[in-house]
Amino acid sequence: MRRKLLLGNWKMNKLASEAREFAINARPLAELAKKHQIDLGVAPTYLSLAATKEAASKDMIVAAQNCHFKESGAYTGEVSIPMLKEFGIDWVIIGHSERRAYDNETNLKCHDKMAALFANNMVPVYCVGETLQEFEEGRTKEVVGTQIREGLAGFTSEDVKHLVVAYEPVWSIGTGKNASSEIAQDICKFVRDVMREMLGDVADEIRVLYGGSVKPVNVKEYLSCPDVDGALVGGASLKIDSYTELLNNIL
Ligand code: PEP
Repeated sequence: MRRKLLLGNWKMNKLASEAREFAINARPLAELAKKHQIDLGVAPTYLSLAATKEAASKDMIVAAQNCHFKESGAYTGEVSIPMLKEFGIDWVIIGHSERRAYDNETNLKCHDKMAALFANNMVPVYCVGETLQEFEEGRTKEVVGTQIREGLAGFTSEDVKHLVVAYEPVWSIGTGKNASSEIAQDICKFVRDVMREMLGDVADEIRVLYGGSVKPVNVKEYLSCPDVDGALVGGASLKIDSYTELLNNIL
């Protein structure tokens, strides 16, 4: 059975002191989530990872928002996987649409990062999704299918056993424009079908999240879809009250 997962993406928000305070306030939530077989986490900036990890419940997932695929070297401004591991971080968001749009994150780069994460027994949260133009042209499945096929090319069923995929239509991220739950279900199922073609039955164990303007008021509807195993949440994960409501509404 696939456990539900609620992961907050804090993007470039929160000072380390604020992240730490949130992590302390979220301690009882992580325990509550665990009791209900739900995985709960947040992804702070690199600079807040240590403070968040130190202050958080051990049941709280603390994820990085990116990593480099090389272990070390002349890559100014980058952070490697061993550097994350030293702080006990073993989850990393890969290929978020903001990184695809502003930092030239290609499917190939995502693939290399995921290969390095799998080699280190870490968990990538691989983000896929179409732009508004691609959606309006009816190309969602073509775009998302390519992101999955190129991003996961050559991996074995053993490699991907901890993988998480997040379907996030770009036009819905931070816009308040929601994809309907029918769209979320259809594309999350499509993602699973493509993974099944590539990797076999392990596709049924891989969690597929929906992300894009998920709020306390709509989270339950998305998570009631059979192929939506959780949510990647930006704005609504920033305040402890709304983060608490997100969890309470799916218990
Ligand atoms: C995100 O950043 O991945 C996201 C889905 O943001 P929001 O929930 O604010 O749309």
